[in-house]
Amino acid sequence: MYDSARREVVPFEPLRAGHVGMYNCGPTVYDWQHIGNLYAYVVADVARRTFEYAGYEVRQVMNITDVGHIVGDVDEGQDKMELAARRERKDPQQLATMYTERFFEDRRKLNIQAPHVVSKATEHIPQMIALIEALLAKGHAYAAADGVYYDVTTFPGYGTRLNAELPEERQAGARIEVNPNKRHAYDFALWRAAKPGDLQQWDSPWGRGNPGWHIECSAMSMAYLGETFDIHSGGEDHLFPHHECEIAQSEGATGRPFVRYWMHVRFLQVDGRGMHKSIGNTYLVSDLEAKGFDPLAFRLLGLNSGYRKPLNFTWRGLEDEQRRLDRWRSAIAGAALAAKATAPAGDDAVRQAFVAAIGDDFNTPRALAVAEDAVALLSSPERADRSRGLGLLFDIDRVLGLGLESWCEGATAVDDAARALLAERQAARAAGDYARSDKLRDELRERGYLVKDTKEGQRWERVPARTKRNS
Ligand code: AMP
Ligand code: ZN
Repeated sequence: MYDSARREVVPFEPLRAGHVGMYNCGPTVYDWQHIGNLYAYVVADVARRTFEYAGYEVRQVMNITDVGHIVGDVDEGQDKMELAARRERKDPQQLATMYTERFFEDRRKLNIQAPHVVSKATEHIPQMIALIEALLAKGHAYAAADGVYYDVTTFPGYGTRLNAELPEERQAGARIEVNPNKRHAYDFALWRAAKPGDLQQWDSPWGRGNPGWHIECSAMSMAYLGETFDIHSGGEDHLFPHHECEIAQSEGATGRPFVRYWMHVRFLQVDGRGMHKSIGNTYLVSDLEAKGFDPLAFRLLGLNSGYRKPLNFTWRGLEDEQRRLDRWRSAIAGAALAAKATAPAGDDAVRQAFVAAIGDDFNTPRALAVAEDAVALLSSPERADRSRGLGLLFDIDRVLGLGLESWCEGATAVDDAARALLAERQAARAAGDYARSDKLRDELRERGYLVKDTKEGQRWERVPARTKRNS
């Protein structure tokens, strides 16, 4: 896998044999998560599934940022939760609960597995305070009038562990407003003294206040995964400052390596541009559904991009993936009616091609191309090919996460009444009673079974049931 710290593809070696500890920077729950955010979690989900497929036991932790994320990521701004709570006239905790629930619903629609631990920042204030105390004790932090700051000059390489240039060089010419309480312009807040009227504030050794955004991820990731763990992911926006700050905090406090592999998802763009409220292109899953798309078509679109280049979202592209999903499903249902899935052999060429693709830095576009080879088997005249194709697809889908097997079970399940009608129709056709057979086909259609006649006899698939028209 590609490691943003080493800036190259390196073999994955777990800290503890057979185990993977993974932390994903999760949502700031002040608003809906848009399709760009959700795409980042699809990528993390594919990574988790890949390790599980390879036999690892994965422990996946995701944070819920319900305090501390400042607008524009600058210490002097307003907390996003605070702003949104005032906008929606709710208290921050109510707001956080509401948007967390909405995020979970969209997560389920995209078949993203629930992380093993979902940790809320507001429930880990003591861990953050302890970490800040450790940093103060080691001379990495200093208390000032308006909070506690990290002194970046005490951590060699600050800002360049994941990034090529020092922040000063990267931001040359940019105007930085220097808070006179900071010793250096790039020092960042670990704890912010409460401002009058702050809705979220806690007691601390430095008076009432609230935590910085970066400290929450250091504190919670180490609380659940240990001081050193395997994988940490986030969007490319986190390369700086968020993850550089996390490294400085964690390694500064523990004196140990923090993360072994850093994974960053390039941003999803819409029609080649960033998403902005002002353009009106910050789409939600519900926007896709309103246009009749299955959210899993969006998952496919994400898989077909590859996480290390920008994903360009277009409605045309989504239509293509919806067609692919429909085509796969119908081929699966067709094959499953007359063939049973057989688990792929270890040396199956298609399976090996899939393992090679997904094992090459989670190369999902290549994995989809391999999956198409399995789909092609479904229309083979040989039943053994169809069985193999089904088995391969269900196996591959453990990583792709399109829910193909459970979809197939639903699509091919048949109730007793329908089974009787199907048998009756088959008999009618055999007896040449086509009027009767057509009438039975209509009846089956109303019950939600679409029957087609093929060379190999009648075939059916599940469709939404519909009520009789009174004409
Ligand atoms: P936030 O709710 O802003 O804290 O972001 C949640 C996650 O979504 C973070 O890991 C971000 O890096 C990621 N993210 C934000 N925008 C995008 C985007 N357009 N494409 C991909 N990931 C994104
Ligand atoms: Zn984070």
